[in-house]
Order: sequence, then structure tokens, then C-alpha cells
Amino acid sequence: MSEEVFLQRTETCGSLRASDEGKRVILNGWVHRDRNHGALHFINLRDHYGLTQVVVDDDASAELSAAAAALKLEYCIAVEGIVRKRPDSMINPDMETGEIEVKAEKIQILSQCDVLPFMIDEETNSKEDFRLKYRFLDLRSFGMQKRIKLRHEIVKAIREYFYKTDFMEIETPTLIRSTPEGARDFLVPSRIYQGKFFALPQSPQLYKQLLMVSGMDKYFQIARCYRDEDPRGDRQLEFTQLDVEMSFVKRDDVLSLMEDLMGEVFKKVQNVELPKKFVRLAYNDALNTYGCDKPDLRFGIELHDAASFAANSTFSLFTDTLKAGGHVKYLVAPKTEGVDYTRKYITALEDAAKVYGAKGMAWMKVQEGKLTGGVSKYFAENEAEVIKETGAKEGDLICFVAHEDWKKCCNSLGAVRSKLGADLGLLSDSYAFCWIVDFPLFEYNEEEGHWEAAHHMFSMPQEEYLDTLESDPGSVKGDLYDLVLNGYELASGSIRIHDIELQKRIFRICNFPDDVAQERFGFLLDAFKFSPPPHGGIAPGIDRLCMIMSKVNTIREVIAFPKNTAAMSPMDNCPETVEPKQLEELGLSIVKKEEK
Ligand code: ASP
Repeated sequence: MSEEVFLQRTETCGSLRASDEGKRVILNGWVHRDRNHGALHFINLRDHYGLTQVVVDDDASAELSAAAAALKLEYCIAVEGIVRKRPDSMINPDMETGEIEVKAEKIQILSQCDVLPFMIDEETNSKEDFRLKYRFLDLRSFGMQKRIKLRHEIVKAIREYFYKTDFMEIETPTLIRSTPEGARDFLVPSRIYQGKFFALPQSPQLYKQLLMVSGMDKYFQIARCYRDEDPRGDRQLEFTQLDVEMSFVKRDDVLSLMEDLMGEVFKKVQNVELPKKFVRLAYNDALNTYGCDKPDLRFGIELHDAASFAANSTFSLFTDTLKAGGHVKYLVAPKTEGVDYTRKYITALEDAAKVYGAKGMAWMKVQEGKLTGGVSKYFAENEAEVIKETGAKEGDLICFVAHEDWKKCCNSLGAVRSKLGADLGLLSDSYAFCWIVDFPLFEYNEEEGHWEAAHHMFSMPQEEYLDTLESDPGSVKGDLYDLVLNGYELASGSIRIHDIELQKRIFRICNFPDDVAQERFGFLLDAFKFSPPPHGGIAPGIDRLCMIMSKVNTIREVIAFPKNTAAMSPMDNCPETVEPKQLEELGLSIVKKEEK
């Protein structure tokens, strides 16, 4: 900028309307678009609040014309001028300021812009990594501005909700002791205690429980969590969750609180009215009916048991699976305009099933009232029974998965259901929440050969299983709950154990004998010696919530500075090596991996 005094804005680029006609204004912003029509020069000036059309008329002074001619895209400028109404034929109903334009009298360049790596616009076709390298520019786009603003609105609505209640916002440390919580910890070497490490929290789980032992009663925090996971799909190394914990509560208290909170957030932020109560599904029912524990309830296409009629078929795969105690399930894909159930498409459905362990997907169609194609010939004897039982109509496709393992059978057919939902255009703009309850408490870790917690080790088993924890871990149900929205797991939580002996039993089942548990979780066990209250909580993912409400399909679109799909940041190029001196101070040396 030259020596001139900075012309500071009197309005934003989104604020002027027809009623401002005749007003002298100063706008500050970026040159969004710039076009010449003969002697007229139009500039679309953009700031965070919107766009305003600026015109340099043909009667402009030589100085003004020269200033306008010097402009390039994304120059940061100040414009002083007079608001005037556009002629009727020039009104732009798509622009909030579309009724007016500003006739420029003075243009001041505040800062110049290099050649742009990509156009700043709502839609950019640039590769994501390129956008991330120049994230500061990418964030200028209307799309990103809108999403980051929405995120702010969501977090604000959450905080406002809690501030009205007895909840306290308490910060917990981010340099903590490494404690297993399912994923790998990020480690931070200690300089003062060489050879020792802090970990970054995978979640504030133990701290929020300790706060309950301390009598804080109701806690929340918008907490940053860290998990050192391999880059896969939509994961971020660091993510944000709304962390909540409450004392003297039962499951339904936590569920009601969340229903109330979500109701208020959706109403405030998007004026959407949610049901007061969300559907509840037991884990087993969710798997049986929708094939997964995070079902998208925006559409039906339910899974059913095919045993009754599959047993009467001559298809040995089905009959043998059933005889061996396995499962055969089916779903009916409805005839849909614009979708042909071709061989190629059916193979694509089958591929989706195979990802979850199915060896294949059997199918048949209903045509002219008869079963045709695929495995239909094995049902010649009981065709009428099948049509009646499945309720399949003309043009429908019946898909089957057979598997000895119930979960694999459900999950595989569930994957077919999910693909159909997307391909048949059933994913509406609505929000379908549901609770999944009665989860198994333990999962068997095949690789390591022991049981582990399905959620985390601090969740309470349901009372009726207390005597059979050790003898039959596989059938124990926990006081666990997940909140699911449109096929995404939005939150997980549980009622916690607050009894030291019970906590030790769970540790033992999860392969943490007493001495190891004392070593790793001594502080929690010690705290439990001092009259902990019954407590429970939950933690909705903020990134996911923002992603779903923004109608985008990756959380990177709702995080200002995310890591890329390779778990690094192309903008500031991290992770990066550090100075040898820094390593020395920490007492660390880098061991080069041997080339294989
Ligand atoms: N700490 C848990 C998690 O991050 C949530 C909870 O149980 O409250 O998944």
C-alpha cells in the first residue's frame, strides 16, 4: 500500500440494499471478478459477508481509470463511491446486494496478489492436495466460508445450550499419561525426564471420570482428541468432540440430554425441527434389520431371514449353510426408474457384499410374476412361497447372502443395502437419528487371542451379566449407546463402572492382570477407592456433525486446516524433521529403518 491513508470500510460487501441509494460508502475486499464492457469496468468485490458490484463509469477520471486498469484478481482493495440502484434489467436476484451497485470514485490497492494457483470460487476442480497446499486461499471460497461459519454456529449453539444448564466447561490436559483406549497414542518426549513420554489424549475419558469423583457433577468440553492411526478414508489424526459426563445418571438421562441438545442445535442453526425422541434399536435388531450398527434410516430396504423358504430350495449352498447352523438373509431391491438391475450392476452389489466377508451374493428377479435369473431355478418347487414370503413385486431384485457367521452375513447384506440406498437415490436431505443400545461389551481380538472392550474398558456391563462376565464374555451386553445420524456414528457413550472390583474384573478379561492394570491405570483405581459416584457420559463428534449438516462427504471440508488423506499437511509440510540439537535435548536419536 502506498503512503495514502487506508480507506477503511464503512459497510461490508454484503450489506448494501436499494434503500442505501445515494449513500457515500467505502468497501474493503478482494477483487472476485473483474470485467470490462467497453468503457465500463465492473468489479465484483468480495469479503466474508458477500459480494458487491462496483462500476467504474465511462466518465471516470484518468486517475480512477488507471487504478481500475491496474487491478488483478484477488487484489485486496478499498473502493470509495456512491450507492446507486441498478436499472431494472440489471437487477440480479441471485445476489443479496443485487439491486444496487457502487459507482466508484476512488480505488485504493491495499495489497497485491500473485498469479493464483486456482480460481477462488465455490466449486473448484483442483485436486484436494493442491487446495490444501494453498488452504489459506481455498478458505476464501464461498463454500469454505459457509462451512466454517456453519461449524462456528454449531459450536456456538452447543455452548449456549450448556451455559443455560448446570454443566460446567472444564479443560482437561493434553499432555497425559499414555493409556490404551483402542487406538495408538501420539507420544510427546519429555525433555526434563529424558526417556519418558507424555501422550496426547485419545479422548478426555479418564479425566472426565475423575472430575465426577471430584464432585463436579456435570461436565462438558469441546475437546481436541488425537489418535495415531494409519491414513484411511475419512480419518483425521486430530479431531474434535463434544465431551460430556454426568454424575448420578442412568442411561436414559444421557439419551434425553442429547435429544434435547440436538433438537436445539438443529433448530437454531438450520431451523430444522427434530423429533423429541429418537428411535431406539437394540444392537442385534439393528444388525438383523439393517445389516450394521449405524444404519441409515432415511430409507427402508430391510434385511430378512430367508431360512423358512431357503430351506425348501434345492440350492445346496443355502440348505447346507442352514443345516450347519449358519444364516441366509435377503433383501428386496425395489424396481426403480432409471436403474437397471443388469449383470454388471448385480456384480457391483456382490462386490460390496464381499468386502464384509461374504463369498458371494445370490440373486433372482421377479419378471412376469415369475422368479427368473440367478438362483431362481433352485426355487422352482416353491416359487409361489418365495414371492409371497418376500413380497417381491414385478421388476424387483431379491438379493441373498449366506454365511455361517451371523455378523458377517448381516454386515455383507448391509453393505448391499447401503449401496442400494445411494444408487436408488434414497438419500434424502432429511436427518434420521437413532440410538443403538445393548451393544456387546467385549469383542474377541483374533490376532492377539484375547477379549477386549468393544467401546472402552470403563463401560458398565448390564446387571444381568455380572455373574457370567468371565465364563461367557461374548454374550455380555454393556450399558452402552451410540447415536447414529444418516448412517454415521455420531456419538458413543456409556454408563461407567464405579466399583473398583468390577473395574479390575473387566481389566483382567481384557488381558490386563492386576499388576499391569495398577501400573497403567493406578490413578483411576486409586480414585475409585474414594467413593466415586455412579456416572455416565457420551461424546458426539463435532467434525462429523458439521459434515452431515453441511451435506458434504468428508470431514476435511469442515476443518479449517486438516491433514490430507496421507496424514500430512501439504501447506506447512508437516510432519517434518527437526534440528539435531532438538533431538539431542530430548535424548533421542533417529534409527533409520533398514531397507528391505
Ligand atoms: N471417550 C469416548 C470416546 O471418545 C466417549 C465416551 O465414552 O464418552 O469414544
